Amino acid sequence: MTTEVVNTKELQKLDPVFGQMSFDDHEQIVFCNDKDSGLKAIIGIHNTVMGPALGGTRMWNYNNEWEALNDVLRLSRGMTYKAAITGLNLGGGKAVIIGDAKTQKTPELMLRFGEFVHSLSGRYITAEDIGMATSDMDLVRTVTPYVTGISEEKGGAGNPSPITAYGVFMGMKAAAKYAFGSDVLEDKVVYVEGIGNVGEALVENLSNEGAKVFIADINRERLEEIRDKYSVTIYEGDNLYAEEMDIYAPCALGATINDRTLTQLKAKVIAGAANNQLAEEQKHGIMLRERGIVYAPDFLINAGGIINVYAELENYDRKEIIRKTENIYNTTLEILKNAEINRVTTHQAAFDVAIGRINARKLKNS
Ligand code: NAD
Repeated sequence: MTTEVVNTKELQKLDPVFGQMSFDDHEQIVFCNDKDSGLKAIIGIHNTVMGPALGGTRMWNYNNEWEALNDVLRLSRGMTYKAAITGLNLGGGKAVIIGDAKTQKTPELMLRFGEFVHSLSGRYITAEDIGMATSDMDLVRTVTPYVTGISEEKGGAGNPSPITAYGVFMGMKAAAKYAFGSDVLEDKVVYVEGIGNVGEALVENLSNEGAKVFIADINRERLEEIRDKYSVTIYEGDNLYAEEMDIYAPCALGATINDRTLTQLKAKVIAGAANNQLAEEQKHGIMLRERGIVYAPDFLINAGGIINVYAELENYDRKEIIRKTENIYNTTLEILKNAEINRVTTHQAAFDVAIGRINARKLKNS
């Protein structure tokens, strides 16, 4: 959901697909339409040099098709670099289904979507994202093997969100080590924005460690539910970016680090689960650096989920999932140090490692 950076009028002036500002040499973009089930979806395959393009399916009530296209282009690109920096033999892909997951998601629609995924013969492998549940993946599995994140009862690795949160927690600790000299989060003031599947599991890790956790969400019921379960405070204000805090953890939408929020942010560390947190990677990466805010790149620290679903493809066990996810701590610390040495943004430092791996593989494959 990168709606904040989308100006539909501007988008409409561009060439419909290849001229989009988020188009980044994507290999294939598939538009899926099925009148009977009401399915309207777009599958974006960004890059398959490292392996089949894997990435979740997001169902969201986009304002228009331009927003959906922009989202799938940005998200699929992010998956390429996430898999590469994590050292997985996967390319980057993503799918979006246009519609309200609460009211428009039906078994027929999901099955039809699965058939479209199947028609790509494994070039794209789907998984869960916003608006999807493990049960949806189980349903898709009945029409195609090219799906991960299926339930443990059906032989899968289950809901990836707790592992994603654990990886974010590891990345946050590494960033804290770098910024504060210690990775102990006890008494650190942490604002978690978005307490959905990942946000809740992150809150659990944080409160177990004794951090002072503030939670924000557009869903009041959810806020109260989480407050009753953990030792956290509901943020009651209307502009959390301006609050005094040690760590800001974006776990809802993308693009929350932008011109408006950056001038107010007092956090010393940013580490969260949301994809595409920087509205403009280059510009806002530089602004973070100039302000001395340690930014743990999103696509690096939110890779726990992809590690979890990759386990299904490679048949590795829970122990190995945890080991790989804990390694996010070491990689994050290394990236933060490299960024300082090379005087680049932390986002760029992570990106350079990923690109280096993709280029090396391309050379080897040729
Ligand atoms: P989710 O749908 O379970 O939770 C999102 C939460 O954000 C919801 O509680 C929603 O009410 C809240 N929200 C929406 N708009 C908001 C706003 N403007 N302000 C505050 N809260 C708002 O999603 P999730 O699975 O927890 O994923 C969260 C983020 O992490 C997403 O950006 C997702 O792409 C990313 N991510 C998730 C995984 C995973 O394993 N689930 C993996 C990698 C990245």
